[in-house]
Amino acid sequence: MDLKEKLTILTESAKYDVSCSSSGSNRVSDKTGIGNAASCGICHSFASDGRCHSFASDGRCISLLKILMTNSCIYDCKYCLNRKSNDIKRAVFTPEEICEVTINFYRRNYIEGLFLSSGIIKSPDYTMELMIKAISMLRNKYHFGGYIHAKAIPGASEMLLKVLGNLVDRLSANIELPTEKGLKLLAPNKNKGDVSKIMHYVKDNRSRHYVPAGQSTQMIVGASQESDLDIMEKSSHMYNKYDLKRVFYSAYVPVNKDSLLPSIEKPPLRRENRLYQADWLLRFYNFKVSDLLDKDNPNFNILIDPKADYALRHIDEFPKEINKCSYYDLLKVPGIGVTSAKRIISCRRNFVIKFDDLKRMGVVLKRAKYFITCSGKYFTNYDFFRKDFIEHNLILEDNFSKASNVMQLSLFNE
Ligand code: SF4
Repeated sequence: MDLKEKLTILTESAKYDVSCSSSGSNRVSDKTGIGNAASCGICHSFASDGRCHSFASDGRCISLLKILMTNSCIYDCKYCLNRKSNDIKRAVFTPEEICEVTINFYRRNYIEGLFLSSGIIKSPDYTMELMIKAISMLRNKYHFGGYIHAKAIPGASEMLLKVLGNLVDRLSANIELPTEKGLKLLAPNKNKGDVSKIMHYVKDNRSRHYVPAGQSTQMIVGASQESDLDIMEKSSHMYNKYDLKRVFYSAYVPVNKDSLLPSIEKPPLRRENRLYQADWLLRFYNFKVSDLLDKDNPNFNILIDPKADYALRHIDEFPKEINKCSYYDLLKVPGIGVTSAKRIISCRRNFVIKFDDLKRMGVVLKRAKYFITCSGKYFTNYDFFRKDFIEHNLILEDNFSKASNVMQLSLFNE
């Protein structure tokens, strides 16, 4: 099999893993090698030719070549295209081929880094040794200084984890499903303990030289029975315990037929989108999982985003007075983000803020107006400050402006 055919097979097989992103790594080439790693938060989308175009928060674009070392696998995870029971074309890159592809793509300016994952061939140790061989060659023989994100293979030895972490910028170990029960059912060869061990080790040993860009993980959404509450509690736990940079949520893509899998036609993209929105609230808006979901209310409202849903369920705590309420109360208002909340706090020291001023501060007034007052004034007659009225308008707005646009984050759309 020639290299081009392998590349086609192994980039196609890699597309279901969304746990790749880059951030926080600063390494400048010493002029004897090629490639720098950039320090910036990045999200990304993937082109069908295997390129991953990643957009940093500062507008810089980073592209990662996303490939599998092999799509052969000794495991049989029910939801995975590459599971051993599937009759698909298999291929294995040699370490030399990984280097060849990466360096050629880098020289042609197609990519600035590599995301390397793998199915499990022979054993976790054997697989990770192959990956280490490739990445080590890339760093030491080709002096490649660009960004590298590798998937750590659960079950591989600590010694190999140590070596791999010293070669790459970011590591991820995919938790895949939020509960042990789900894992046992759909990925019986895997166990949660192996993933936690990796996360523990990376957290304890992280430094400027060891996994400088931190670790991330991925959870599959909708393949098993777990609720959004189960998923968010797991994420919150991992952010706190292992200092994760990101949890990626990947809507289950129905690629296999199996009685244990849900029979759905399309991936639950809207649900995936709600989880990303809620994850953002946890990380940047001081929300707790218990603010958003509870046992009586274990799943996000598909029709309305989690912050608006929170505001409607706590309507008695609104409207918030823009000229008086705290920074954290401002962050609870739909349509007010971190930047606009900071601007409001700063501006109101100098003048009394009116509705007209808010747009200039970056507030999305068409959402925020329902939940605020400016010097005691509501945007319209106070009789309209009613949960049913606001909910109706927000759902209309959300569905008109976004329904046709919902798409899975980080898959193969340019
Ligand atoms: S370990 Fe499971 S999820 Fe990973 S490649 Fe193998 S079958 Fe797929």
